[in-house]
Parts: sequence; structure tokens; C-alpha cells
Amino acid sequence: MTTAKPLALGCVADDYTGASDLANTLTKAGLRTVQTIGVPAPDLPLPETDAVVVALKSRSIPAPEAVARSREAEAWLRQRGAAHVMFKVCSTFDSTDAGNIGPVADALREAAGEAIALVTPAFPETGRSVYQGNLFVGALPLDESPLKDHPLNPMRDANLVRVLARQSASAVGLIDMATVAKGPEAVAARLDALAAGGKGAAIADAIFDRDLETLGRAIVGRRVSVGASGLGLGLARALAADGRGTRDAAGAAVGEPVGGYAACLAGSCSQATLGQVAAAEALMPVLHLDAGRLLAEPEAVIAEALTFARERIAAGPVLIASSAEPEAVRALQSRHGSEAAGHAVEAALSAIAEGLVASGVRRLVIAGGETSGAAVDRLGLRAFLVGPEIAAGVPVLRSAGRPEPMLLALKSGNFGGPDFFARALDMMG
Ligand code: ADP
Repeated sequence: MTTAKPLALGCVADDYTGASDLANTLTKAGLRTVQTIGVPAPDLPLPETDAVVVALKSRSIPAPEAVARSREAEAWLRQRGAAHVMFKVCSTFDSTDAGNIGPVADALREAAGEAIALVTPAFPETGRSVYQGNLFVGALPLDESPLKDHPLNPMRDANLVRVLARQSASAVGLIDMATVAKGPEAVAARLDALAAGGKGAAIADAIFDRDLETLGRAIVGRRVSVGASGLGLGLARALAADGRGTRDAAGAAVGEPVGGYAACLAGSCSQATLGQVAAAEALMPVLHLDAGRLLAEPEAVIAEALTFARERIAAGPVLIASSAEPEAVRALQSRHGSEAAGHAVEAALSAIAEGLVASGVRRLVIAGGETSGAAVDRLGLRAFLVGPEIAAGVPVLRSAGRPEPMLLALKSGNFGGPDFFARALDMMG
């Protein structure tokens, strides 16, 4: 199955978690959305979808590499019919004078044949607003927020017109709130006036979702833009209003039941996950892995865990957890080093995930960000359709491009309420 209709929207995201956040936002705003991990193979079969978010890891790599990967992703999206491509950056505009927002924005704009690109990281839902070109994180200007001490890209200037100009070959202008408040036509006219004056990018003010809706309507007919999930929301709402979305996009994404068995894995040791594992004990068989033994004799522990699961999954879901209280984690880390311990546990849980899928599991819930990433890599999953939210920021995912589809829930440790596992399994059918 290939995409029957051209994509309404293509996005290139500069990191994975940002890509998931954007894909979730687009889905909620009415676009069926697929998120891919890296630039997809040219022939990746995709279900019918309205938007694709290509997740790169290009935020902190050398600018020429970020440009090359982003151009590759853009070319793939255009080839699938995307008329508009948004470059998704962090809502705190994480970058340095060397890039990568400016160089990638320049390259995508030139490739699109546009004179100017609208740029805004505003995302009201998370307290990011832009006024007179200055980015605020909650009540604080960017350069007074904790981002001023970011280890990779300390943000020491809140004025994004200046920040972008320093890292861009283009001159940068401003679309101020007075213009945004007048509506999409005023924004479009201002963009054209700035382009005529030689600007190649324009920072746009936005404080509320309605401002992002105005910006979305102003640029949806253009070919390129740069923003965070907030601009994605504006574009998605504009497209949905034009009838280019899908009713119940999230439900449509999850589609038919996938059948098979269901299982949960927990590699997060966060307080929220520890509580969720404890709550699951009342509902399903839970195997607590001995992490110390797991490091000493991984093969034996993996085999025992798979036997535990295979003896029980026909009767209902099981949970296998390495999660432990902070003292136990610290003890293991001091014996083996925290990175080595972490990687070893991730590798074991990924091997268990692979064994579970080989045994017929098609619905898999995984707690832990790194744990999920390792398992997804091991399972060779490259693309997901984004379904309804189980908890804020954690949607049901349906694998795409795999002969036998799977449903997954991948959550960062701290996300979700105490009944997360039960809710996730319930929503996965
Ligand atoms: P979170 O989303 O809560 O940060 P992650 O999966 O990203 O969860 O990170 C948890 C890390 O802790 C992983 O590297 C995992 O392998 C490791 N880990 C899991 N269980 C244990 C344990 N019992 N002792 C030490 N480390 C563990």
C-alpha cells in the first residue's frame, strides 16, 4: 500500500522527542500523521495519511551534515506530494551561532524556491511565546531562563531576529503582534514586503493559539516554514479547515485491531513508573528482573523472562520490569558504571521485546525513554501512525511499513497516571 493522496503537510524534525510531540499535536489538530525514524527508504510503504514527520537527530551535529540530512528528508516529503514542508525546531530555539536552525532554514527555503520563510518557536501550551521577536519561556525572557546555561547550546540572547541573523546567510525581519492581530492577509502582505526588502526569514510574534492559527492560514499556501509544535498546530488547523484533514484522525490512525498477544516492559526507574508497576501487580502477572543477575548472565535471565511470558500470555497480558528503587539502581551503577549498567539493561529488555514479538505479541507497552528507543531499534520499526492519547503526550502508535502491524505505547518514565498500563492495554484493544 502506498500513499494514495499527496501529503497535506511534511515536517522535518531536528530531534526524536520533538518529532513525537509534533506528530501528536498534528493528530490532535485533525491530521492523520505518520512519524518516521530517520529519512525513510524511498519505497517505504505507507498507509493513507495526511502528514509525515521525519525525525532526525540533527540539532547538535555539524551544520553541513544537518543541512544534508534535512534536504534528504525534504526531498522524500516532496516526492510524496507535500506542498508545504515545516522544519521543526525546539520551542526554546536551541541552536548556536554556527547553526543549525539558520543553515537548514536557508537551505530548505532555497530548495523550495521561496524568497522568505516564516519562523516562530511559539508554543503557548508549554509557555513559549514570542513578542517583538523576543522569546519568553513562561514569564522569563529566554536569556534569563534555565536555557541560558544549557550544556550544548546556551541561549544568551532572547531576541530571535538577532539570534537567527547570526547563524543565517539571510537577512532577518520581524512580523510583530500588531500585524499578526490584523489577520492572515496582513501577515502575508508583511512577509511579501520583507521579502521585497531583501529579508530571507521573518520571526513572527505569537502568544496564543489563535495567533498560530493566523500564521498557519497565512503560510499554508506557501512551501516552507520553521517552527515548533505550535506552528504545526496552526498549519494543521488551517489544513483541517480547508477539508484536508481527517475526521477522528487519531481513531483512523489506530485502525483495525491487530490481534495477537499483549505485553508490557518497564525499564524506567522513575517514581511514576515504579507506582505504575506496583498498580499493575493487581491486574496481571509481573516479573521483576534481578538487574544484578541480568548483568552477570544476561542470556539466562532473558530466557527465563521469555519462558515466564510464554506460559502466561495466552491468558492475558504480562509485565516484565527491571525498574528498581533509587538505592538499588545506585548500587548497580557504582559496581558497573551507570552507562554500562543502563546499556546492558536496555539490551536485555530489547532482546526480551524481540522474543515476545516472535512469540506472537502484537501489542506492546514500554515504559522508559531510552528503553523504548532501544526496543524500537531492535524490532526494526521505522515508522508509526499516531493514534489517540493514553496520557498527555503519550499516544497509541501503530507500526507502519511492517507486514504484520503492531500497536505500541512508548512512554517517558515520568509520564502517565498510576493506571497507565491498564489504560494503555485497554486502548490497544
Ligand atoms: P526514563 O524515561 O524514566 O528516563 P529510560 O528508559 O530513559 O527511563 O532510562 C532508564 C535507564 O535505567 C535505562 O538505561 C535502563 O536500562 C536503566 N535501568 C533500568 N533498570 C535498572 C536497574 N534496575 N538498575 C540500573 N539501571 C536500570
